[in-house]
Amino acid sequence: MHLKNSYLSEVYSIAKQKDPNKPEFLQSVLEMLTALEPVIEKHPGLCKKGVLERLIEPERFVQFRVAWVDRNGDVQVNRGYRIQFNSALGPYKGGLRFHRTVTPSVIKFLGFEQTFKNSLTGLPLGGAKGGSDFDPHGKTETEVMLFCQSFMSELFRHIGASTDVPAGDIGVGNREIGFLFGQYCRLRNISEGAMTGKGIFAGGSLLRTEATGYGLCYMAEETLQQLCGQSLAGKTLVISGSGNVAVYAIKKAQEFGARVVAASDSDGYIFDEEGIDLELLRQIKETERARISEYAVRKPSAVYTEGSEGIWSIPCHVAMPCATQNEITLEAAEMLVRNGVTALFEGSNMSCTLNAVRYLQQEGITYVPAKAANAGGVAVSGLEMSQNAGHSSWSYEKVDRILKTIMKNIFAQSYEMSAQYGSPGNLLMGANVAGFVKVSNAMRWQGVV
Ligand code: NDP
Repeated sequence: MHLKNSYLSEVYSIAKQKDPNKPEFLQSVLEMLTALEPVIEKHPGLCKKGVLERLIEPERFVQFRVAWVDRNGDVQVNRGYRIQFNSALGPYKGGLRFHRTVTPSVIKFLGFEQTFKNSLTGLPLGGAKGGSDFDPHGKTETEVMLFCQSFMSELFRHIGASTDVPAGDIGVGNREIGFLFGQYCRLRNISEGAMTGKGIFAGGSLLRTEATGYGLCYMAEETLQQLCGQSLAGKTLVISGSGNVAVYAIKKAQEFGARVVAASDSDGYIFDEEGIDLELLRQIKETERARISEYAVRKPSAVYTEGSEGIWSIPCHVAMPCATQNEITLEAAEMLVRNGVTALFEGSNMSCTLNAVRYLQQEGITYVPAKAANAGGVAVSGLEMSQNAGHSSWSYEKVDRILKTIMKNIFAQSYEMSAQYGSPGNLLMGANVAGFVKVSNAMRWQGVV
C-alpha cells in the first residue's frame, strides 16, 4: 500500500524509524493511515494537536521477567509484556496472549488495533494488550498455574478495575484467567473486576465465553443482509482455528443454518463434508486438550491434512479466519476467490496481509476487518465491567440482546463512514475511520497529554 498524502506518509516514516523491527505493528499502522487518506483531505482538523504522532506511540509499554519452576525442578524464564496504548476513551482494556510467537511487535500491533476496536463498541474503554512467549501446550496444570502466578506477581502493579482490565486471548482461556485473577486478589487483598472473562461464580458475565464468536456471526449476518440481501443460512463456511473464537463462531453459524465444513489448529486442518460435529471437536480440543487430527480418527466422514494453511483451498461461500494474524496471505486469498468465496469476516486480529486485503477488495469480496468483526468479545468484557461496578449480574438474554445491538451499531457506523468518505461498503475504510474519529475527538479535547 502506498500513501499519497504527504503528512500521512511522514507519520508512517516516523513509525518506521522508531520501530524498524516491528513488522506487524507497522502493518497495522499502514492499514489505519491508508484508511484515513480521504478523511484527512476533507477534515485535516481531526489530526491537529499531533493526534497521529501521539496515537502511534503507546502511553506505556512494560516488559518484565517471568521466572517459574517446571515439573523437573528446573528454572524457566519467559518474557511478560503489557502495553497500555491509549486511555483517551477510558481505562485500558485488552487481552493477554500466551504463545511462543509473542514478541514486542505482536503486542504493539494488538494494542494499537485494540484502541480502535474498543472505540467502535461505543463503550468507554481505552486500548491495551499483553502477554508472554510462554507456550501452554504440553504443560501440566500446575506448571500453567505457577507461570500465571509469577506473571501476575509483576502485572498486578499496573492493572486495576479503573486503570487497566486484562482479559484472555490466544492461550489464555477460562483456566488461565482463574489462576491470574486468584493471584491478583491475593496480592492486592481485594476482590474487584480487574480482569474480565472470569468464572460466572467469581463475577464473570454470562455470554463472555461465547461473545467473540457469536459477535462475529452477528456481524456476518448483518453485513450479508445489508450489503447483499443474503444470509448465512445455507452457506458453506470454512472457519480456521479450534479455540475460543472458532468454536463459538461454528456454533452460532450452525444455528444460523450454515454448513461449517472445516476447522484447524497450528498443526493441520480437518475437512468434514457432513459438517463439523461441534460436540466432538470440543471434546477433543477443550476437554482432552488433544490435537485436531484426533477428530478424523473418530469421525469417518472427516479427512485430516497436515499444515494449517491448506484449509483455504477448501471451496466455500464464506471464510472466517479465527486462528492468528496474517493467516490469509495473497496466495490463500487467491485460492479462496478461485473456489467461489464471496465474503470474508476476520475473527482473528489482522487475519489478512495487506496484499490479501487489497486483492479481496479488488475482486469485490465482502470483507469486514477484525476491529469491527471480532469486537463482540471486548464488548461483553465491557458489560462484565459494568456488572462488576454495579455489583449485579445480568441475564444471558440481556447480554445477548446488547451484544447484537452493539454489532449492528458497529456495522452501521462503519457503513456510514464508508459512504461519507466516498466508498460505500468499504468497511475496511469505514471501520478504521469510525474507530479513529472518536479517539481523535477525545484526544484533542483532553489537550496534549
Ligand atoms: P485460542 O487460544 O482459544 O485458540 C487459538 C486457535 O488458533 C487454536 O486452535 C490454535 O491452535 C490456533 N493457532 C494459534 N496460533 C496459530 C498459528 N500460528 N497457526 C495456526 N493456528 C494457530 O485463541 P482465541 O480463539 O481466543 O483467539 C483466536 C484469535 O481471535 C486471535 O487472533 C485473537 O487475538 C482473536 N481474538 C480473540 C478474542 C477472544 O475473546 N478470545 C477477542 C478478539 C479477538 P493450537 O491449539 O495448535 O495452538
